[in-house]
Amino acid sequence: MPSLRLKGRKDLVRCPKCGYTFSITYSRAFACSGCSLASLSCDYVKCPKCGYEFLVD
Ligand SMILES: [Zn+2]
Repeated sequence: MPSLRLKGRKDLVRCPKCGYTFSITYSRAFACSGCSLASLSCDYVKCPKCGYEFLVD
C-alpha cells in the first residue's frame, strides 16, 4: 500500500459525473500515473472509470 496520507481527508470520493465511488489513493496510483503533480498536494482527482477530473476538498 502507498504510504501517502491525505491529512484530514477521507480516502473515498464519488465521481460527480458517473457516480463511481473510488479511493483517492487508487486514483493517484492509476489514473494519475504520469502526472508530475499527482504525488504532491494536488487537489484534483481523476475518476478511474470515466476519466473525469474534479476538485476534492
Ligand atoms: Zn467518473
